[in-house]
Order: sequence, then C-alpha cells, then structure tokens
Amino acid sequence: MNVLLVEPAFPVPAGRPGSAYLPIGLLKIASYHRAQKDQVVLVRSPDLAPFYPDEIKVTSLFTYWSRWVWDSVAHYRAVYPKARIEVGGIYASLMPEHCAQSGCDEVAVGLYRGGVAEDMAPAYDLVDSDFQVIHASRGCIRRCAFCGVWRVEPKSEYRESIVDLIVKPRIVFYDNNLLANPHVADILCELGSFRFKDGRRVSCECQCGLDTRLLTPDLALALKKARFRTPRISWDGAYSEWKRVRAAMEMLETAGYERRNTYVFMLYNHDVPYSEMREKLEACRRWGLRVADCRYRPLDAVEDGYRPGPKPQSPHEYYTRPGWTDSQVRRFRRAVRQQNIAIMLRLPNNRYAPGCEQHLVGTPWWVTRKADAQRSRDRRKRSDRA
Ligand code: SF4
Repeated sequence: MNVLLVEPAFPVPAGRPGSAYLPIGLLKIASYHRAQKDQVVLVRSPDLAPFYPDEIKVTSLFTYWSRWVWDSVAHYRAVYPKARIEVGGIYASLMPEHCAQSGCDEVAVGLYRGGVAEDMAPAYDLVDSDFQVIHASRGCIRRCAFCGVWRVEPKSEYRESIVDLIVKPRIVFYDNNLLANPHVADILCELGSFRFKDGRRVSCECQCGLDTRLLTPDLALALKKARFRTPRISWDGAYSEWKRVRAAMEMLETAGYERRNTYVFMLYNHDVPYSEMREKLEACRRWGLRVADCRYRPLDAVEDGYRPGPKPQSPHEYYTRPGWTDSQVRRFRRAVRQQNIAIMLRLPNNRYAPGCEQHLVGTPWWVTRKADAQRSRDRRKRSDRA
C-alpha cells in the first residue's frame, strides 16, 4: 500500500523553534506503516508524492489553524481523487464534527488506531532535524479550563525509563506536565548519567512549563544535571501565586540556572484581568525573569484573525476575552517584548529604555552569531569534560 503523510503548511511564526512543530505523530505512523511493508512518503502541503497514494493521512494542530488542514484536504482530494483521506491530530480530536466537513473520509480522534504507533521509533530520516522528541508521559493530572490536553489525552500514562529511546544528543520532551510523572526523578537521573559510545552527553528541553506545585529543590538539581536548557516556570493563574513562582525561581537558581535564562509562561487574554497581568509582569521584572506569553484563543476557535503589530483591530476580528480589549492585548504583548529585551541587555532595574534595541542591531548579525556559536562550543566542551 502507498501511504502519503501530509503536514499542512501551517503559518509557523517566524523565529519560533522548529522543535515546537515537528510532526512527531506522523513520524511514528510512518514507522508503523513501514513495518507493515507499506511505501511511505512525508510531504509538506502542497507537495506531491512520487506515487499514487492509496491512503493520505493529514495531521492537524491548533483548532484555529484548521484552515490549513481544510486546504490540504481539498488539494489532495483534487489531485488524488481515489485516495482515502484521513485527518488526525489535535484539531481533529478536539473538533471531529467540524473536521469531518473538510471533505476528508475519516477523522481519527486521539492516538492513531488506538495507539498502535505509540511505541514505534519515529522515522527521523523523513525530516531534517538535529533533535529527537520524547514523550515520557501522556495526559496531565490537572484540568486547566483553557487547556485541551486533558480532553485529547484523558488518560495519564507514564514511562518509567526513556534511556532506550535516546538516539540523538539533543532531546525535546513533548510532555504536557513533565514533573507529574511519578518516575521523573529516575528519568532525570538516567539522562544525567547517559553517555553515547563516544562519550557525548545529551542536552534536553521541555516544551511544557514547570508545574510549581511539583517542583522541589532535588528535582531542580536533577533537571540541571540532566542538562535541561532554559527552564520555563508556569504561571497561568492569579498574581496571588507569586510566592510559589518565586520559590520555583529560587530552586532553579540554586540548582545553577541563571535567572535571565529562566522564563515564566503566562497565559493572557483569559480570566486574569489586564491590570493583574501587569502586576505579574512587574514581579518578573523585579526578579529578572523573562516572560513567554501566550494569547488565549477558545478551544473551538477555527480561525484567529489577530494581526500582530501596533495597528488596532475591531473586537470582531479576533477573540478578546470579556474584560480584555484589543488595546490591552497589544499593550501587554509590547510590554512583555520590551521587558524581555531589557533583561537580555541587563539594563538597570530591567527597565526598558526606548531605542535600546539599537544596541542589539548595532552589531552585525554574523558577528553576533559567530560569537554565540563559539560561546556555546566552549560551554559544551566544558560540560562534556565535567
Ligand atoms: S497543567 Fe498544563 S497541560 Fe496540564 S491541564 Fe494545565 S495547562 Fe494543560
């Protein structure tokens, strides 16, 4: 059988790490079908396959990127009218009825065929990637109202060990709540002591924020020893949670993480009002932590009409939470960007000064990149020796 796997041409924001959007589900499905002796090709829409496919499997991400999924279905339906088209992934799982109207033949909800591909080694040869993805767990123990994880993955599942899955020196964990895994201490310990045959170690990143209710000094230290880079503390709730956030920051700092390389994840345009979000941002300024902000969109939003930039938009063009205005959304985003710049540049009191970006753009990018590359080579050499 000929299987065509399709990644729609999602509008991945410029400057966002590719690690956030690797179609890991498709890579596992590819391995599963290869094991069935099927011919498999992965393309990014609108590219075509070198054969006439019997089955086409289109992945999906956020519901508000549904348009790109629909476009892919329409495109491949027109080119390969006899092929059977199936759509899976996050949008398909959250909004199967809406997805079914895209013109596909089937909507796959949840893991592919009940999880048959879950333990397959992803077919990394199909993508150009210098990192690998690992899920040490599925689901989440929390039930945050704004989050789709517990709806898409209602059952929590945990791996006790991941050492057998390691194939590349850079690992990105796609867990939803890494620290909720009861075996996380053992996993961090095995990552810290892991060596490839040539002596190289691994470095890790985690896409999710660190749950402040679960972080302990020992886990912070274990994260550092496991060589997790740029940890991100979750702070989606009220300002009153500041003590827990500060405690998490202190644990990470004691473990060896520099404050300005630690981020705080913040959801805005949701239940916490604008004025309180500014207080949270102000706390991060005082602590010297950078902020990774995320604008809330409803889980059933099939479009996002927001246009970045200073130009105002009317309330009907994109979703603003009752209590929030377009102007507040834009002001909050701008304040986050400016504060992050101030922290990065080590400006006095981490306060932004208009025009300070000139310092950033004053140095040609190739000089900065060369210096950065040299610094990280030196750092890697030092830690490999350690
Ligand atoms: S802790 Fe994170 S992954 Fe879990 S439900 Fe809340 S937002 Fe979602």
